[in-house]
Amino acid sequence: MKSTCIVAGNWKMNKSNQDGKSFVSEIQKRILDKGNAKVIFCPPFTSLFTIVDTLKSSDFSVGAQNVHNELKGAYTGEISVNMLNSIGVEYAIIGHSDRRHTFGELDDFINKKIITTSKSNVIPIFCIGETLDQRKSGLTGKILKDQIELGLKNIDNINPEKFILAYEPVWAIGTGETASTLQVEEAHLKIKTNLETLFGSKGLDVPIIYGGSVNEKNAESLINIDGVNGFLIGGASLEIDSFCNIVNIVKNF
Ligand code: PEP
Repeated sequence: MKSTCIVAGNWKMNKSNQDGKSFVSEIQKRILDKGNAKVIFCPPFTSLFTIVDTLKSSDFSVGAQNVHNELKGAYTGEISVNMLNSIGVEYAIIGHSDRRHTFGELDDFINKKIITTSKSNVIPIFCIGETLDQRKSGLTGKILKDQIELGLKNIDNINPEKFILAYEPVWAIGTGETASTLQVEEAHLKIKTNLETLFGSKGLDVPIIYGGSVNEKNAESLINIDGVNGFLIGGASLEIDSFCNIVNIVKNF
């Protein structure tokens, strides 16, 4: 059995407040036994309060898709960790490929968010991953190392129970193209080695989840890979059947 198995659904900019509420209510009815799995829903900001409230007497968790590094002030459109914490949000995705590549977030900004979040009760889901060009140029290992070192700069200590790293090759996100078993295994091993270099044995215990076109057909082979502690799922987290089927696969590992 894996020490940690996480299934996090990143809804991105999908589902109204009401749709989100109905969705998690139905999933709550369908998934009565999560086994070893930790299930996290990451709805848009507008639904966070409703989803936390709907799930309050369950052990399903809720995460935000982003967070700002400052705690308050003139940051129009942004949300702080304290705001998330105050309504019961337990996780925040940081450095998602959409944020890096569509909104131009750089490692330095991502690092500030990780530092602030690490000092709070909100657990970061820190996303890294190479583009297709970088992979084709043989740069995957270097890119992962750089993103880890820059994203975790000035973090001296890591608590593996309060940190999740998500490996999401950019070319596999939302494309239907999943990384091969070997590619995932190699990348997770490289990430583990980098975390060990930075944080010693605690680094080895950080859960590393995979994201990139995970669905109910490939979930079993992906969760079987050594060093994969679960998934960050976009598209397949939006459908009740596929999400429940993935949880049902993962919970047995
Ligand atoms: C994601 O949004 O993080 C993601 C992995 O999306 P998808 O599962 O659709 O590839």
